[in-house]
Amino acid sequence: MVFFVIKIIRNILGKEDCHTRNDYFFLSCVLILFVLNLIFKFMKGFIYSLVALLLFAFTANAQYKKELKFNLNGEFKVVQFTDTHIDFNSKSNLNVYEIIKGVIEIEKPDLVILTGDIITQSDPQNAYLLFDTLFSEANVPWAMVFGNHDSEHNWPRENVAELLQNLPSCLNNDNGDTYGNSNFVLPVYGKNDKTEAVLYCMDSNSYSTLKPTVDGYGWFDFSQVNWYREKSSNYTFANDGNPLPALAFFHIPLPEYYNAWKNKVNRPIGVKNEDECSPDINTGMFSAMLESGDVMGTFVGHDHINDYIGVHYNIALAYGRVTKVMRGKRDPKAGGRVIVLKEGERSFDTWIRDLNGKKELECSWPGSFNKLKKIK
Ligand SMILES: [Zn+2]
Repeated sequence: MVFFVIKIIRNILGKEDCHTRNDYFFLSCVLILFVLNLIFKFMKGFIYSLVALLLFAFTANAQYKKELKFNLNGEFKVVQFTDTHIDFNSKSNLNVYEIIKGVIEIEKPDLVILTGDIITQSDPQNAYLLFDTLFSEANVPWAMVFGNHDSEHNWPRENVAELLQNLPSCLNNDNGDTYGNSNFVLPVYGKNDKTEAVLYCMDSNSYSTLKPTVDGYGWFDFSQVNWYREKSSNYTFANDGNPLPALAFFHIPLPEYYNAWKNKVNRPIGVKNEDECSPDINTGMFSAMLESGDVMGTFVGHDHINDYIGVHYNIALAYGRVTKVMRGKRDPKAGGRVIVLKEGERSFDTWIRDLNGKKELECSWPGSFNKLKKIK
């Protein structure tokens, strides 16, 4: 029933960006007022129609997706959780809800992003509903990008995407205008409602589509690279030609993570306990980001026992912290990665908050990574 109501409201509002949707919303209200007015005309019931309209506006707006804004201190805090691998059939990793709740209580973020491999091998419906309830109660909106394991039950990726978009607190908004199922942009507004930062959420896909010639994991399709370039250049154009501070979230690390770990001048912060499981071929997403000039850092999951943040050509390439409990002695403790953006600045602070509340690996970009290579 709730989904049905949300669907109607979403259909009225459309899938355009928030400001456009507000216009549609206003027009819809005027239309409804007109119809109600006709109905009550002979009853001299204008006042009733006005009350009915206000009630409609209030309840619709209560469920309306939240806009993201820098707070009064000019900060915007994201917490990234990743690779929870929840499976209700085998009752695996069900304690991640408690872990996430604990981290949120300490950090009080403005947004939560789940970077893939979230619900694996069991019906995603109730599992995501639980997430939505948890985040609604904490009054924090959330978004999710898909990992390679997110469509292993009988639910195809498109259906999981549809399910997510209909949850009241989930900001996923994939219009289907590029390859994959979790590609969307979340603008962060500053004072005067101007876009001050941009969060690109992208589907890094699952497995190679060129088997047996190319094995391994998926990669960004060229249409996604073009989609990113176009979005980025539109934001830059609207900002008088200056690229906005931006972050990107997806699941599978880009091949350039290897270079970031090998950076001898600006050493990465955190651990690499396994090789980066990037795709075997490179379709140029990193080059596109470098050329576009807006992305300051990318945040992925996938390799559960890596949690480092390094730089390659001055873009931060970071892992989140695995949010399911790992059993190995050297494995990182379950937790989440916190990222704090500053309004009007090309910089961010980041750290890990683990399930015991401990803060680890605190650093900032570019501050912690600005040693210059000596010219020989
Ligand atoms: Zn994965």
